[in-house]
Amino acid sequence: MAVRLFNTYSRALEEFRPLDPTGREVKMYTCGPTVYSHAHIGNFRAYLFEDLLQRHLEGRGFDVRRVMNITDVDDKTIRGSREAGVPLAEFTSQFKKAFFDDLDTLRIKRADSFPEATDPREIAKMIEMIGTLMERGLAYQAEDKSIYFRINKFPDYGKLAHFDLEELRSTGRVKSDEYDKEHIGDFALWKAWDEADGPVKWSSPWGAGRPGWHIECSAMATQLLGDQLDIHCGGVDNIFPHHEAEIAQTEGCTGKKFVRYWLHCAHLMVEGQKMAKSLGNFYTLRDVLAKGYSGREVRYALMRVHYRAPLNFTWEGMDEARVALARVDDWVRRLEEKGKEENAERPTSNVQRPMEEFEAALDDDLNISAALGVLFETIRETNRRLDISEMDSSEAKAWRDWWGRVDQVLAISQEEAGVPAEIAELAEARVQARLAKDWRKSDELRDVLAARGLAARGWEARDTKDGQKITRRGGA
Ligand SMILES: [Zn+2]
Repeated sequence: MAVRLFNTYSRALEEFRPLDPTGREVKMYTCGPTVYSHAHIGNFRAYLFEDLLQRHLEGRGFDVRRVMNITDVDDKTIRGSREAGVPLAEFTSQFKKAFFDDLDTLRIKRADSFPEATDPREIAKMIEMIGTLMERGLAYQAEDKSIYFRINKFPDYGKLAHFDLEELRSTGRVKSDEYDKEHIGDFALWKAWDEADGPVKWSSPWGAGRPGWHIECSAMATQLLGDQLDIHCGGVDNIFPHHEAEIAQTEGCTGKKFVRYWLHCAHLMVEGQKMAKSLGNFYTLRDVLAKGYSGREVRYALMRVHYRAPLNFTWEGMDEARVALARVDDWVRRLEEKGKEENAERPTSNVQRPMEEFEAALDDDLNISAALGVLFETIRETNRRLDISEMDSSEAKAWRDWWGRVDQVLAISQEEAGVPAEIAELAEARVQARLAKDWRKSDELRDVLAARGLAARGWEARDTKDGQKITRRGGA
């Protein structure tokens, strides 16, 4: 069965076929974080859906090349750095680091590259694209010296969002400071410097300023993946205007279809309400970990509902995730124990069929609930066979291997995927300090380990009679 995905552009399920003539290489772009604060669990829901998509496509033999951008210059980052009284790069670097730590905690595979908007190479590409749009009459400089995209000159504008341009026109002007745009929907490609930007500016043929958010993604995507992408993902909030603008800018420059499949993840609700700081239900990943949940529990809770269905995050749901994972752990342990026994041959059940069912569920627009249904039905049935001693050790091993393949996609097993290198190095240094009986240094390193988010990332350093052990918190 072929992989079928729901394309926001056509509003239909479509068979997935990458542009690559060999049919193997998949170019995937995913909008990344704006690093002005810690990402919240709604953001991570989208990143987890993208991770599941990548892992499933890889399981199906595709070779996925993924790019995720880091927005490290925009209104919010500039405001944050001014309020903190530190340079922009210093302000954003703490949140970049936190973001990567959070990816590790949630076992999200690293993209092949994470371009940053302020990278001079990317800024140059943005300026080049804006120049092309100016030459083609698709952009203009307004009285405020900023450059805007002329949406009236791009007939397809609004097609992704299924948005009527006339409707947009009739809504009138929303902000008085946008008086000099030709059309209310025209969006900024280059924002002319003003005092609020402080020292943040780059020179361009149109004067000093900084790029608009939308052109950042068009430039980084095409710079690293070429003019045409197979898959572009994001949250539903990104559809308009961000992704609509990305299409207009990129196709305005290249004249080629930018993206073949647009995939968007639905909202995350918290206890039935929209997540908002004012409602006190706004959670970062760190807030959830602070309540004692592990990264894999959060991963499971945010991943278990189909990406196009709204997900209601509740503490009850977190507890259900814990119970579900304990069930998986317990089952895997039983299989491993059984697998060690002397073999007394018994008729084996079919391991291949549930694998096909699991994959077929995900082929169907990533139907995770059906895939998890296959997993838990398999657990129920194999546990039953273990209970009545119907299973021999070779079958137990076969099911354990089956789980290994399934977990390549789900990444929820208790097993340690490997201690992060940075933590391993610090831990090793601490062992050396203790061997040298340098207790002060050992204590210092313990504090450094804690400060590097050791506990928050789900790892724990314990001093045991056999020496220091680095383990997953709550793990074996
Ligand atoms: Zn984007």
